[in-house]
Amino acid sequence: MASSGKAIRGRFAPTPSGRLHLGNAMTALLAWLQIRSAGGEIVLRLEDLDRQRCKPELASQLPGELKWLGLDWDEGPDVGGPHAPYEQSRRTAQYERILDELQRQGRLYPCYCSRADLQAAASAPHGLDAEGPAYPGTCRKLTALERTERALRKTPSLRFAMNEEATYRFHDGIAGETTFAGASGGDFVVRRADGIVAYQLAVVADDIEMEITDVLRGWDLLDSTPRQLALYEALGSPPPRFAHSPLLLGGDGSRLSKRHGAVSLTELRDRFGVRPERLLGFFGMARRAVRPNRRDEGCGLGRRL
Ligand code: GLU
Repeated sequence: MASSGKAIRGRFAPTPSGRLHLGNAMTALLAWLQIRSAGGEIVLRLEDLDRQRCKPELASQLPGELKWLGLDWDEGPDVGGPHAPYEQSRRTAQYERILDELQRQGRLYPCYCSRADLQAAASAPHGLDAEGPAYPGTCRKLTALERTERALRKTPSLRFAMNEEATYRFHDGIAGETTFAGASGGDFVVRRADGIVAYQLAVVADDIEMEITDVLRGWDLLDSTPRQLALYEALGSPPPRFAHSPLLLGGDGSRLSKRHGAVSLTELRDRFGVRPERLLGFFGMARRAVRPNRRDEGCGLGRRL
């Protein structure tokens, strides 16, 4: 790990939309090992912005699930700390300040595209990337009059305008030298039409304010990194060091996910009597991991390690 002279700070940033599964637990363990082995501090932050998907009872059980595994942290919703609150749903004022700043810079614009418009864009050749449909920039080109007309019919989302000329290069602690060229998936949403702040904006705002120096997270978020780097650049903050760790695969070869009913830590403990040390041993031997191909090698899921 490179040393910048700053205190090393990492974080766990789970989304309480389901019980933690083995994949989430392995990523949390790797982040914990990375930070604790360097004598650093860890923040637990609950990424509960999407009130429809996130459940308060899952959020309240999360700290206990991580503790059962043997992990600990220095700041978080349960222990407090200088950067409280540690639940994203309670940090709207912070995000609005950042949105105002980007608005002042002229980097945001309203987007009136419907889901159908976005799907049509996705079916165009090269229209899809691992982050979802690449946005073709339709609403970026609207005139003031067109915006006024559309605003009468639809509440817009807000998009961040990527710099099409930029190339984002960074050293990933696991993926190595990584390059994303061009607009990397196009202009992206920072606030949804229903007013909910989007993940990309919230995660960058929080990692800056919480002074996070090292982000270790799942490989599925590698494609989000150029967008986040563009936000760090616009906000004049140095980005953290990134490391994207391989994802665990289920028995059928697909990656574990809460939605696909991956067995949860709680179930392993309560139904099958599994001890945490057995899980730690299992992670040490895990072979069935997957990573999406790097963008510069072509996109898509499926390469086994
Ligand atoms: N909240 C995200 C998740 O649960 C992680 C975000 C991040 O680590 O940047 O997948």
